[in-house]
Amino acid sequence: MRPSKHAKIVATLGPASDDFQTIQALFNAGADVFRLNFSHGRHEDHQRRLEIIREVERQGGRPIGVLLDLQGPKLRIGTFPGGPIQLAEGQAFRLDLDAKAPGSAGRVLLPHPEIFAALQPGAELLLDDGRVRLRVERCGADFAETRVLNGGPLSDRKGVNVPGVVLPLSALTEKDRKDLQFGLKLGVDWVALSFVQRPQDIAEVRALVEGRAGIVAKLEKPAAIAALDAIVAETDAVMVARGDLGVEMPAEAVPAIQKRIVHACRRAGKPVIVATQMLESMVTAPVPTRAEASDVATAIYEGADAVMLSAESASGRYPVEAVRMMSRIVGHTEGDPHYRAAIDASRTDPPSNAPDAIGFAVRHVTELLQAAATVAYTSAGYSALRMARERPAAPIIGMTPRLAVARRLALVWGVHAVLCHDVADMPEITDLACVTACREGFGEAGQTIVISAGMPFGVSGTTNLLRIAQIP
Ligand code: PGA
Ligand code: MN
Repeated sequence: MRPSKHAKIVATLGPASDDFQTIQALFNAGADVFRLNFSHGRHEDHQRRLEIIREVERQGGRPIGVLLDLQGPKLRIGTFPGGPIQLAEGQAFRLDLDAKAPGSAGRVLLPHPEIFAALQPGAELLLDDGRVRLRVERCGADFAETRVLNGGPLSDRKGVNVPGVVLPLSALTEKDRKDLQFGLKLGVDWVALSFVQRPQDIAEVRALVEGRAGIVAKLEKPAAIAALDAIVAETDAVMVARGDLGVEMPAEAVPAIQKRIVHACRRAGKPVIVATQMLESMVTAPVPTRAEASDVATAIYEGADAVMLSAESASGRYPVEAVRMMSRIVGHTEGDPHYRAAIDASRTDPPSNAPDAIGFAVRHVTELLQAAATVAYTSAGYSALRMARERPAAPIIGMTPRLAVARRLALVWGVHAVLCHDVADMPEITDLACVTACREGFGEAGQTIVISAGMPFGVSGTTNLLRIAQIP
């Protein structure tokens, strides 16, 4: 079946999307990748959802990507046995490592020695998604005395963000390590890493993943934005995690940062997901606000690979409607004549290497010959990514003998992934490409397709062939 859109949809699963019927409905409504959010839920919940996804995939006949999202080093305060406290602007408030003392109106536990080690007077702490703001006045190895800048209520285990400081924290907590091993055993296709601060965070996870999944760097800290190019170079894909990013940076900075990240990823030819609050009001309403529709469209005009739903599909009242609505916004935006102009104008020249040269050439040949489709025969997905980087108008068929690769490509802009058998030579690839283009509804007899592949076959990064073929 020919897909109706280039950009992909990532739908988070949760209590509102927990059974076969709903997950199948999400898929039919246009979800390409499902996100298992390990900040919530038990292992058995995620395992059950993954088994349902694989059954939906089997019945749907199209590869589905699964993204495991690790919670990462999310920092939290302790508890207030006497109930929530009220912080007033200008008052003093102390955070420390004393796990035995009960939280009170004047102090609370912050069980993270690494934070105290990294804090300096003048640093700001954001609590409860930025609703409460504290400035550090004095600090030591086990305490910080702060002044309240923005007051408000504070209750048990609220999150803490420390925007201005690179924390000497590992990108993975003990829980993340267990979750990662569990997810890899289940066979997830992508692993997303939260609160990435430096390129080494990605390298650390890569050593554990050992090629069994692609790695998504969630950009939600100022330190990560400062190291953007190095992180993009190290990772396989990126998520613009606007939820925490908008807490750690001023809200007005988020749109420009989103544009910068999407641009950097398109330049590198790495998939980029725009995430969080895209259709937030659909958590409780069957239609989005016009501003939300416009937000999804903006990501599409920028050329993002994917847009993501979080609570809308995981815990909202209208999960299927949210995916359907997102799919309609994507389709409508891509149908706007201005869309093509925006995509072409924001493309950058590829780097100077053989695979990118082939991707570049495929697009030009496709345009010149008005070809019906492009086909990448891709063993690790690399050729398909080189073609997606060019954002061609013609469809990209990612033909691969590896199911894991087909599933991973579900996240990539414009790529229609198809599983095929191993091929031996170029004539066989050509035949198979023609048959596949017809079968998938992208071409018919007499039409031209443009094929890319790499010799020797089965070795990643060897893309060096371009073949023009006429469908017999
Ligand atoms: P989260 O990440 O939903 O796991 O917090 C996304 C974000 O912060 O935007
Ligand atoms: Mn986050």
